Amino acid sequence: QLDANPDRSVAFYSQDMNQGMQERMRIESGLRQALGNGELTLYYQPKFEIGSDRLVGAEALVRWVHPTRGLVPPGEFIPLAESTGLIVQVGEWVLEQACAQAAIWQRAGVPPFRLAVNVSAREFTQSLPIRVADTLARYHLDPSWLELEITESTLMHDFERVTAIMDRITELGVALSLDDFGTGYSSLSYLKRFPIHTLKIDRSFTTGIPADQSDCAIAGTIISMARQLGLRVIAEGVETVDQLAFLREAGCDEVQGYLYAKPLPAFEFEQGMRENWLLLV
Ligand code: C2E
Ligand code: MG
Ligand code: MG
Ligand code: MG
Repeated sequence: QLDANPDRSVAFYSQDMNQGMQERMRIESGLRQALGNGELTLYYQPKFEIGSDRLVGAEALVRWVHPTRGLVPPGEFIPLAESTGLIVQVGEWVLEQACAQAAIWQRAGVPPFRLAVNVSAREFTQSLPIRVADTLARYHLDPSWLELEITESTLMHDFERVTAIMDRITELGVALSLDDFGTGYSSLSYLKRFPIHTLKIDRSFTTGIPADQSDCAIAGTIISMARQLGLRVIAEGVETVDQLAFLREAGCDEVQGYLYAKPLPAFEFEQGMRENWLLLV
């Protein structure tokens, strides 16, 4: 339906846009300040091997400890940070903090596990391998302690460039996993072209297990494909013993989810290791 009064529709539109833009600018400048004021923090969620119940990894997940709003989940600021480019600074902080923490655990004699850091498509630049190498060196962190989680959107950019970056990261001894697997639009052929170690089955599929036949079929297919391609496979968002039973039966290697633990601040993660996870072996 066309507006009879073009002037009014323009005024209406720009008012709407102003509100959206103001909100975005408010969050963006807040996030800029948060970076400077040390208001970001990392939570850690453990990953377990299904057969052995061994702690094999953890995922670092960023939170914003907002002075008035409290703990702000990444869903409320990461997409904005991605669209403004601020994700590069956020990502630098996250990598630095994750390596610092992993180095503390490495020095404390914790049995080795991989700490995974999420990396957005915009952070996946030529300088990333250099920054990773430099950070590992500064913290004397063994590269086998670090993993980067990327998504299909990262792979859909310039093939040559992305391959070169992935190769250099892998050569450092840092593992790459493909997050939210099954939700993107890229072709399956990239699985043999890119140096990927692990597929992460997206939570949206895990959630439907075992009631939803399609979700079971998709999860089962991802697992058998991963095994045939020689990739490891982990399911995220595991909340029930029925889901765990299905995944074990299907041959899934690892699990991550509320059934075991929510993302935790470092000191609670350490408590988990001390009191539960390192005793499970
Ligand atoms: P993701 O990388 O797929 O992370 C998994 C998300 O699932 C996390 O949400 C985690 O808390 C949640 N989760 C794990 N197990 C369960 C479960 O059993 N049930 C339910 N309901 N949820 C579960 P979170 O921490 O809110 O992070 C959301 C997304 O934000 C992440 O999805 C990732 O895409 C992004 N993100 C988080 N931290 C960073 C970061 O440091 N850098 C970048 N670039 N992105 C990040
Ligand atoms: Mg992730
Ligand atoms: Mg994920
Ligand atoms: Mg996800």
